[in-house]
Amino acid sequence: MLVMMQAHATEEEIRAVCRKIEELGYRAHPIPGETRTAIGITGNTGPVDASALEALPGVAECIAVSKPYKLVAREIKEQDTIVELGDGVRVGGPELAVIAGPCAIESREQAFAIAAAVRAAGARLFRGGAYKPRTSPYSFQGLAEKGLQILSAVRAEFGLKIVTEAVDKESLELVEQHADVIQIGARNMQNFSLLKRAGRSRKPVLLKRGLSATLDEFLMAAEYILAEGNYNVILCERGVRTFADHTRNTLDLAVIPAVKRLSHLPILVDPSHGTGRREKVLPLSRAAVAVGADGLLIEVHHQPDQALSDGYQSILPAQFEQLMDEVRQIAGVVRRTVSTPPALGQVAKTR
Ligand code: PEP
Ligand code: MN
Repeated sequence: MLVMMQAHATEEEIRAVCRKIEELGYRAHPIPGETRTAIGITGNTGPVDASALEALPGVAECIAVSKPYKLVAREIKEQDTIVELGDGVRVGGPELAVIAGPCAIESREQAFAIAAAVRAAGARLFRGGAYKPRTSPYSFQGLAEKGLQILSAVRAEFGLKIVTEAVDKESLELVEQHADVIQIGARNMQNFSLLKRAGRSRKPVLLKRGLSATLDEFLMAAEYILAEGNYNVILCERGVRTFADHTRNTLDLAVIPAVKRLSHLPILVDPSHGTGRREKVLPLSRAAVAVGADGLLIEVHHQPDQALSDGYQSILPAQFEQLMDEVRQIAGVVRRTVSTPPALGQVAKTR
């Protein structure tokens, strides 16, 4: 159930409706829109009796939500959600967000070399895993807290916003202290206790699509985070399992317009995990921007042959430069922009 407030409803009227919803034993989620506020109701097991709410001052109407998800649905918020990360970095809205960096943080030298390169090419967000969910327990598992400290040092040195994965509640506690965006990986997309914990964090969450998740399952996973009160969720398409074996996964670009129709949340495309092949990252990045993605997540490594994870899909800094150049051109065609990072001297001043 959604309570749509009138355009001129006052803050006090909105608060009174929220109070009433809580009195009825539910949770109220006021979501301001361009012209009016919608209040989502969660926590109900059956239908909510609308009459008690419709009678309150400032209420325009109560509408039943037709989809299983409520807070992620366009019905509650017509405008696209823009996740503000500070210093003019945003995900969603007219500007494209490009997150670039290695699969895993391997050392301070490695992280700094790649951060300098991706920043010079125009990225404003840096990625790198400190906790790596690996298929084999014998593969490199990440530097854990030391990796997070390196990421914090990257932010201080380069003014890049940091995106890094949490794999469980313990790592999330640490990740939220170091990161600007908490990544929840494909393998954890339906780790509901982790999603709930991320929903209680004050940091935005980047939620990757599960290995074989349908669109509804993907949106329901995001709903878990919003239902706990964290509305800053960024979706990420990273390919799904199919019979195709010419790529690691099958990048489902058709999900972008499908998500845009159903949800107000921003969605990025990760062509690195989506294809698993270095030479396919550039063409699929072009396509992702053309199809309407809000940005890209790209694995970049200066020495991919020596990378401790995902080297074969990591592109070189020079290839990333070309990617940024082409993305800028395609962005213009679809009326999007790509901002440039401020001069490094500026970063030092705001630190
Ligand atoms: C990653 O981003 O490095 C990663 C492990 O991605 P995914 O969860 O999509 O496999
Ligand atoms: Mn990876």
